[in-house]
Amino acid sequence: MVIKKDILSYTSAELAPILSELGWEKYRIGQLNSWLWKHCVRDFESMSNLSVKHREQLSSLFRINKLTEDKKQISNDGTVKFRYALHDDKKIESVLIPVSDDKRFTACVSSQVGCSLTCAFCATGKMGLTRQLAAGEIFDQVVEVNKFCEETYDQKLSNIVFMGMGEPLLNYKNVCSSIAQLTSKDGLNFSHKRITISTAGIAKMIVKLAEDGWKVNLALSLHAADDAKRNEMMPINESNNLHTLMQALKFYHRMTGNRISFEYIAFEHFNDYEKDAKNLVKLCSHFPVIVNIIEYNPVEGVDYVKSSEDRLNTFAKYLLKHGVMTTVRKSRGKDIDAACGQLANKG
Ligand code: SF4
Repeated sequence: MVIKKDILSYTSAELAPILSELGWEKYRIGQLNSWLWKHCVRDFESMSNLSVKHREQLSSLFRINKLTEDKKQISNDGTVKFRYALHDDKKIESVLIPVSDDKRFTACVSSQVGCSLTCAFCATGKMGLTRQLAAGEIFDQVVEVNKFCEETYDQKLSNIVFMGMGEPLLNYKNVCSSIAQLTSKDGLNFSHKRITISTAGIAKMIVKLAEDGWKVNLALSLHAADDAKRNEMMPINESNNLHTLMQALKFYHRMTGNRISFEYIAFEHFNDYEKDAKNLVKLCSHFPVIVNIIEYNPVEGVDYVKSSEDRLNTFAKYLLKHGVMTTVRKSRGKDIDAACGQLANKG
C-alpha cells in the first residue's frame, strides 16, 4: 500500500519539481498552489480549473490533512478559544483575541502538539511534547480562525502571534514554511510586520531567524529578570541564560530593526518586587524594548499566584518612571480555559 504524503507538508519549491517530473506545466503548478495557499481549498475535487487527469494524479499521490473544529469556548470578553483535532486525532488550540473594541483581531496559534520545555506555570508544559505541527497545520489554524472572524465580525485578522502551544523556534522549519505561505502574494499576503513569534528563549535559533532574513516581530517570554528566578520557572534558561539571550536579541534587533517585546507575567511575591523591576530596567537598556506585563491565568496544580492589581500597577509604574515603554495586559478569557494548553488537555 502506498502511504500518501500530506501535500501541505511540501513547500511550493519542493512540490514544483515533483509535478514537473509528471509533466505538469508551470502555470498548472501555479494553479494548484493558488488552490492550496490562496483559496485554501482542502479537497482536490473542488480544484475546478485543473483537469480530471490532474486531479486524479494528485489524489493518487497525495492526501490533504485537515483541521476539524472539535470544541469552541467563547468568553464574555469576546475571546474565542478553538480546539482543533488533527488528522491523527491529536488536539491543539488556537485563540481569537479581539483588541481595541473589536477593531483589530489577533489569532494566537500553536506550533507543536504539547511542548518539551516544562515552564512551571504553563498547562502545555505539563503535557510534554507529542509531535511537531506541519506547516499546513499551522497555516490552517490562521485560515480557520480568520474564517470565524470574517463570518462573525465581518473583518479579517489583523495580527498573528505564535504564542499558543509549543515553542515555535523548536519547530523552526515548519514555522518558517508556514510564515512563508502566510506572507506570500500567492498565499494569504499577510504582512510580516503583523506576525510575532513568541519564544521562551532559544538563543541560537533567534540568531538563525535573523541570519535567514525573517523580519517578523519577536517577543521573549521573559517572566523574570535574573537567572536564578528564571531557572526556577523556566528550565530552558539553564542552557540559554539572560546574557546569551540579550546578545542574541541585540543581534536580531540589529539585523531587522525591529523592537523586541518582553512578555512578563507578574507572579505575587515572586517576580513583582522593586528589585525585579530594577533588574528588568537594566535588561531593557540593550536595544529598544516594549514590556508587556501580563496578568496570570491560573492553571490547576501550579503554585504561582497572580500579582494583586496594586503590586502589578506599582511594578508597571516603576518601569514607566525609568523610561521603559510598558503595557499592562489584563488576562483575557477568564471564564473559559484560556491559559495555553488548558482546553487541549481536557477530556
Ligand atoms: S510557556 Fe511556552 S515554552 Fe513554556 S512550556 Fe508553555 S508552551 Fe512551552
